[in-house]
Amino acid sequence: MFKKSLLLLAVLITFASVSTEASAPNYYPALLCNNCGFGFKSQHCVKCDKWVNTQFHKARLCTSCGFGSKKQDCVKCGKWTGNQSYEARICNECGFGNKRENCVKCGKWAH
Ligand SMILES: [Zn+2]
Ligand SMILES: [Zn+2]
Ligand SMILES: [Zn+2]
Repeated sequence: MFKKSLLLLAVLITFASVSTEASAPNYYPALLCNNCGFGFKSQHCVKCDKWVNTQFHKARLCTSCGFGSKKQDCVKCGKWTGNQSYEARICNECGFGNKRENCVKCGKWAH
């Protein structure tokens, strides 16, 4: 009896780990190159260029805009970011509601 419930538990755990994998996010973080993110520039909204210090969202790329090595390209100038990259930000207004979940390149929903 004990063995049987242990087996059931193992099955449940396996199932749980599979289902978390399926709900992995379908987007990539939008990046800025060393040049576009230099100094305080990385702290500006990539959409409206407003300076955002604390109230910001991480900019996203959809799976097609970030496909392959494209996710390593700067969202501003398109240059490869290489080892020096900054996470792009969007301000509270540009990311209001579920706009923060939109791809900063094509505007498609990236979640
Ligand atoms: Zn903005
Ligand atoms: Zn750049
Ligand atoms: Zn996109």
